[in-house]
Amino acid sequence: MKRSLITLTTLIILSLACSLGAPAAENAPAANQPVETATSTNIQNDAGSAPSANSESAVLLFTIGMHIEPLGETAQGYGGGNGDYRQTQLFDRHIQAILTVTGMVEAHGGRMTIQAQSPFTTVAIESGNTILADLASRGHEMALHFHEDAHLGKNDEALSVQQWCDVMKEEISYISQASGVTDIRYWSGGNLYVDIYEAAQCAGLDVNSDWKNPQLQETPLEFVGVNSWRPSGGTDGINLVDFTQHDPNGAVIFLPEGQYDKSNFAASRRSEDTGGDEAYFEYLKESLYASLEASQAGKVNVFHFTIHPGEFRGNPQHPYDVIEKFLTEVVDPLVASGQVQWATFSEMADAYAVWEAANPGVAPR
Ligand SMILES: [Zn+2]
Repeated sequence: MKRSLITLTTLIILSLACSLGAPAAENAPAANQPVETATSTNIQNDAGSAPSANSESAVLLFTIGMHIEPLGETAQGYGGGNGDYRQTQLFDRHIQAILTVTGMVEAHGGRMTIQAQSPFTTVAIESGNTILADLASRGHEMALHFHEDAHLGKNDEALSVQQWCDVMKEEISYISQASGVTDIRYWSGGNLYVDIYEAAQCAGLDVNSDWKNPQLQETPLEFVGVNSWRPSGGTDGINLVDFTQHDPNGAVIFLPEGQYDKSNFAASRRSEDTGGDEAYFEYLKESLYASLEASQAGKVNVFHFTIHPGEFRGNPQHPYDVIEKFLTEVVDPLVASGQVQWATFSEMADAYAVWEAANPGVAPR
């Protein structure tokens, strides 16, 4: 029974991956290949060995999400943080950063979930830049990264579900215009709005993850793990009951980020005093291995992390080497052994829905 479920899930994921018509990794356009793919020859394994596969091994679905931030005034007239995508230099630099990392992931057989918002989308539309359409045609998922204050203003939590829905729809329409993709299902953001799931459902969205408290930059450990569920409601960041409670009829599938053991895992990337990029990716490795240990055969298990454009660039002589090294030394062997499979966020959610339909009444986690 369990085996047939895994097979079914695998088949669905494979058929989804195939239907995307993405080029094989070796056929990825040369311009998108990483500039430098040198990797360290001494594979140090401070976190211990990866759990090995056994006869009835669980599969862990994996991807990397990309958050594109609202740099500059948004379509709704708010925002204006550090930088502005209307500055061609910054826009072009981030385009190159996104192309380098997506090309790197493609070369390892993966696809990402690219989460965009204005003004990146509107600048792309106005300048005729086709990056989002290009990435979509290569199999990457297009999605929404929604910074509520940049699209709804400082008083966003007091606004109605309809106001949120309208602006989320507006942001989705720019993503569709820039990418040609009309079926946008995933979003990140709006985390402290209690009615976020009603608003998202109204806007046609049904997959969510990356919950962190934007004020504390922390994720409650109640939200981590490898198994998805359908939250029965949103959270204000203090009352977590509705969010952690599974509602079989919930409209949205939440994908936890994996088996992390620190509530500040999302923010620790930025901390040079905790060791910078190397230490962060070492922690990602430990968390990926812990996620494999926590994975169960016959369930849909997920792990993912986030990269922002230009993040983890490191040494200019070896840009993004820390990412390349992680993919080569940590991810590739697990993909080869069948323990890890690449899947975009919507593919993860689809696999969960298949599992759910085959296991009515079973607690998802
Ligand atoms: Zn963000």
